[in-house]
Amino acid sequence: MSTELSAGNVVGFQALFDNPLFAGGIGLGALGAAAAFARKGALVALGTARRRLLVNVEISKQDPAYPWILAWLSKPRETPGFIASRLTRIHDMSVTTLTTSRGPAGVGGPTNAHFFLQPGYGRHIVKHGNAYIAVNREKHNTANMNTGEPHEIVQMTTLWAHRHVFEEVFAEAHRLAARANEGKTTVYSVRGMDWAPLGDPRTKRPLASVILDEGVKESIVADVKDFMSRQQWYIDRGIPYRRGYLLFGPPGSGKSSFIQALAGELDFSVAMVNLSEMGMTDDKLAYLLTKLPKRSILLLEDADAAFVNRRQRDSDGYSGATVTFSGLLNALDGLAAGEERIAFLTTNHIDRLDSALIRPGRVDMTVRIGEATRHQAALMWDRFYGDIDQDHSGRERFLARLNDLGLFGVGANGEPSNRHTSTAAIQGLFLFNKNDMEGAIEMAEGLIPRKFEP
Ligand code: ADP
Repeated sequence: MSTELSAGNVVGFQALFDNPLFAGGIGLGALGAAAAFARKGALVALGTARRRLLVNVEISKQDPAYPWILAWLSKPRETPGFIASRLTRIHDMSVTTLTTSRGPAGVGGPTNAHFFLQPGYGRHIVKHGNAYIAVNREKHNTANMNTGEPHEIVQMTTLWAHRHVFEEVFAEAHRLAARANEGKTTVYSVRGMDWAPLGDPRTKRPLASVILDEGVKESIVADVKDFMSRQQWYIDRGIPYRRGYLLFGPPGSGKSSFIQALAGELDFSVAMVNLSEMGMTDDKLAYLLTKLPKRSILLLEDADAAFVNRRQRDSDGYSGATVTFSGLLNALDGLAAGEERIAFLTTNHIDRLDSALIRPGRVDMTVRIGEATRHQAALMWDRFYGDIDQDHSGRERFLARLNDLGLFGVGANGEPSNRHTSTAAIQGLFLFNKNDMEGAIEMAEGLIPRKFEP
């Protein structure tokens, strides 16, 4: 196709340009195009300037630093002048409410509420040293497939010249978080396919507050500490650096409390999985063990679930949790199970377990944490009434009463008794009779376990 213009066409164009309406339109169009070009140019220049002059950091909710940064953002700040104070104060806050129960290990007591103020969604400006930081907290429409929670990010922007401020900010946020967790034990539980802190870190439970039978606590603590000091020994011999403990016995004997107190003593967290939980499968368990939070004790509760499962699924099509025995062993042994690990398994039904579990690295030590003994009852009494029962006469009457009730395995006349009580029940009795030891002695009969009558 020819692109040459004929003379006739040229004359035609000339006529058009001579038309003032048409010429005006062209002029306006040209102006518009120039303005659009200038705007685009300005945007590109702004973008380039922004890239050159500003520096951005983005933290997503999945990152462990996310809550630290939110806490850092909500800390009170110095507000130097009027303008600066307007600029650096965060006006939109969101609140997270946590409720906890007062009293030892969450037993009884009124509920306490704590409110954590955090910067709300949107843009804020904060000042750190001489640097101003623009903060943008955004919630996205997409959700985390594992937890179902919406994706969230915090974006922080400052001048390129002040980029080093971020290192300080992260270090300070980490320091604040570490200080807030000092003396606390974090308990992780399973959420979706991941570990998530179960509520706020709890105040460390002193080991002395868990009263086990004579020497039991001491022998486990000594074994764990010995294991922790022998990493090199395991490395030199090419043995996976793992140790497992099986605590068994009736409910309310202090198994969970002891593990939590031990974690506090070692400055570890607890990563807890209930094997009888719905939706817990072999694959999920194996996967979770690959991602165990650092410095944590793995607690596998209701270890018998895997065995019950195996037996019952064959016979009556039980369809609760689907962790199998081989799944549990694979998770404990597997390469994926991580190199370094302290695991505690607990069960109320030792008879349901399989002896294949007792192998080095799976379960190295098996301890029965049983019904309350005389020794435990005496120590618990001292913890509750030691200051008002200085001559121990109250304690002796209490122990004699429990003995008469046949709660220590022998009846009043020396014949064997199969009545027992739990340390949890004794604690309940003492809590009910705070500072009232006579009340505790009078109500001791309530410690006799009641048979369940349908
Ligand atoms: P388990 O895990 O054996 O079922 P828990 O540790 O959950 O028992 O105990 C239940 C409650 O009873 C907790 O509040 C705990 O403080 C108390 N308790 C039970 N046994 C003891 C114990 N031996 N020493 C101190 N407290 C105990």
